[in-house]
Amino acid sequence: MQVNRELFNSVMVPNYNPSEVIPVKGQGSRIWDQNGEEYIDFAGGIAVNCLGHCHPALVNALKTQGEKLWHLSNVMTNEPALRLAKKLTDSTFADKVYFANSGAEANEAALKLARRYAIEKFSSSKTQIISFTKSFHGRTFFTVTVGGQAAYSDGFGPKPQDVVHCDFNDIEAFKALINDNTCAVMMEPIQGEGGILPATQEFAQTVRELCDKHNALLIFDEVQTGVGRTGHLYAYQSLGVTPDILSTAKALGGGFPIGAMLTTTEIASYLKVGTHGSTYGGNPLACAVAEAAFDTVNTPAVLDGVKAKSELFRSGLQAINDKYHAFSEIRGEGLLLGAVMSQAFEGRARDFLLAAAKHKLMVLVAGTNVVRFTPSLVIPDEDIKAGLALFEKAVADVVNG
Ligand SMILES: *Cc1c(COP(=O)(O)O)cnc(C)c1O
Repeated sequence: MQVNRELFNSVMVPNYNPSEVIPVKGQGSRIWDQNGEEYIDFAGGIAVNCLGHCHPALVNALKTQGEKLWHLSNVMTNEPALRLAKKLTDSTFADKVYFANSGAEANEAALKLARRYAIEKFSSSKTQIISFTKSFHGRTFFTVTVGGQAAYSDGFGPKPQDVVHCDFNDIEAFKALINDNTCAVMMEPIQGEGGILPATQEFAQTVRELCDKHNALLIFDEVQTGVGRTGHLYAYQSLGVTPDILSTAKALGGGFPIGAMLTTTEIASYLKVGTHGSTYGGNPLACAVAEAAFDTVNTPAVLDGVKAKSELFRSGLQAINDKYHAFSEIRGEGLLLGAVMSQAFEGRARDFLLAAAKHKLMVLVAGTNVVRFTPSLVIPDEDIKAGLALFEKAVADVVNG
């Protein structure tokens, strides 16, 4: 069988448009395609491969658990899930964990919990959910409806009701929207898909205060920012604003699908037996890999390393920009970085991605105007330097037409 990009067109639902390159192997921050060509990976599987490809701790966890027990369903609990939940709660504000298989599912659980909590504790009319323009919370119908891009939720018929959107970081607009019927506010501490746009501390604090005033729950979607990505275990820990519910996925499994919703004992008590659930959620195989990823990332060596690597990355991007003036700003935190197009390159982020791929470097975009970098949290400094050298060539190609 010829396995190539044409086969994709013939057998796959056309909802993606993947690159022509088909990787077959990865190690650390390097990938090899079917022809043995080597690439440097600054994409990290969209902020998922927090320890790069095939990290020994994850391979060992996968192999060890894979020979013991894969799946039971939630009719029975299991050791890896309970150990991981204990570690997540010991390291965060949360007391309780619900496991899912993806970010969207973790957010779906968060939204359903918030609705239950508000309706049962306060009133059947307390159902309004506020989220932000350009936010991204996943692709289930509830989460796309809450997400701030109508293009992802339009055209599927009636949407879940009572969801409103506010401009991100707009304190006055937010004050005008929140009221006693607000059930929850869902936000990303740094908007990822929306363009690597951090919430200002003042904005996050105001949202927290107004949520308290109106008995609304604050849900932080840390699917992209969580598990060390910003140089902190979770981004809320450096923002100085603690949510009531937090969702985490992407890097949580280091490449193995898993998601989780974290909350307090009081709020968690509104999910009673049978209220919500998942067949695969919290399976021992996913949780064993996630536990190994968590143990590896949640150390001063790795978290401080992210901060140092971020500096190296930023200064490298800045040096490239000093020469080519393609970007108006380098923003983000830790190893969640975005290069924002300058006016001359407005809307052309994808051109930089394609040029980078030609030079055997994998990067991402966030929208049409930002080139996004979400490499492994333990990417060697030499790979950052080598990758940036390739990126400079790509930038030169685009700038010189
Ligand atoms: C990726 C992402 C999601 C969706 O996660 P899936 O695992 O694709 O369902 C939700 N929220 C944010 C902030 C994300 O970056």
